[in-house]
Amino acid sequence: MLIVMRHGASAEEIKRVVSVIEEMGYQARPMPGAQRTAVGLVGNDGRVDASRLEGLPGVEEVIHVSKPYKQVSREWKTESTVVRLPGGVAIGGAEVVVIAGPCSVENERQILEAARQVREAGAVILRGGAWKPRSSPYSFQGLGRPGLKLLAKAREETALLICTEAMDPDGVRWVSEVADIVQIGARNMQNFSLLKAAGRAGKPVLLKRGMAATITELLLSAEYLLAEGNHDVILCERGVRGFDTITRNLFDISAIPVVQKLSHLPIIADPSHGTGLRDKVIPMARAAVAAGADGIMVEVHPNPDAALSDGAQSLFPDQFAQLMREVRVIAEVIGRRIAEPAPVGA
Ligand code: PEP
Ligand code: MN
Repeated sequence: MLIVMRHGASAEEIKRVVSVIEEMGYQARPMPGAQRTAVGLVGNDGRVDASRLEGLPGVEEVIHVSKPYKQVSREWKTESTVVRLPGGVAIGGAEVVVIAGPCSVENERQILEAARQVREAGAVILRGGAWKPRSSPYSFQGLGRPGLKLLAKAREETALLICTEAMDPDGVRWVSEVADIVQIGARNMQNFSLLKAAGRAGKPVLLKRGMAATITELLLSAEYLLAEGNHDVILCERGVRGFDTITRNLFDISAIPVVQKLSHLPIIADPSHGTGLRDKVIPMARAAVAAGADGIMVEVHPNPDAALSDGAQSLFPDQFAQLMREVRVIAEVIGRRIAEPAPVGA
């Protein structure tokens, strides 16, 4: 439920609404806007007596949010959320942000080389898993905490920001000590205790769509993060499982405009996991930017044939550089631009 205050409502009137909400046993979230302030009522269990709030001085109207997700919806907040990261990088504004790097952090040489290569081509955020959710327990599981150290070293050298996955609540703690963005993977999209931990991590979260999740379920999972007080949430379309096995997944580009209509949160797209095949990644990355994605996440490896995970979908560095040149042109056509890396040492 959203209590919209009149234009020019006084601070006293807003405070009164907040204290009545709290007296009723709910949480109040005042949200000052360009035109007027709205106060969100969090924790609505269906028994809220709206008339008590409607009659308060300074209240314009009480809006019942119709969607099952509340704080994530555009009904709750009409302005798009911009997630602000160190170094002036922002996701959800005019700039389209490119996150690139290998599937996994494999060793120091590999991650440093990948970081230099993607930075050179124009990425602003380095990806690379230190913990890897693998279908087989016998596949490479990631380096764990030493992998995080290597990512930190890559950031030191290149000034790229770091996005990496946490698979359990301990991992959230470790990842949030090092990373600029904590990634929650597709397989964990509905791991609700992990979402609660990530909601309290104090770091921006990248939430990937589950491989069999509807858009409503994705937004409800994001609601867990906001309900814990974390508003810096970036959604990610990464393909859902389809009936055709010719690509790894069915990359749902339509999710981009659909989510943008339903939610104020930024949405990026991952055509690498979306298609699973290197030569399909490039056109789908171009299409995602054309569709209005706030960013793309692309797997790039210095030597994809030797990759310990997801080699078949990892771009060669020169392919990635070519893709960057192409998406710069596409972004401009739709009135946006690709974010450029800050100079090292800036
Ligand atoms: C990844 O980004 O490396 C990953 C495992 O992706 P997803 O969770 O989308 O499968
Ligand atoms: Mn991968």
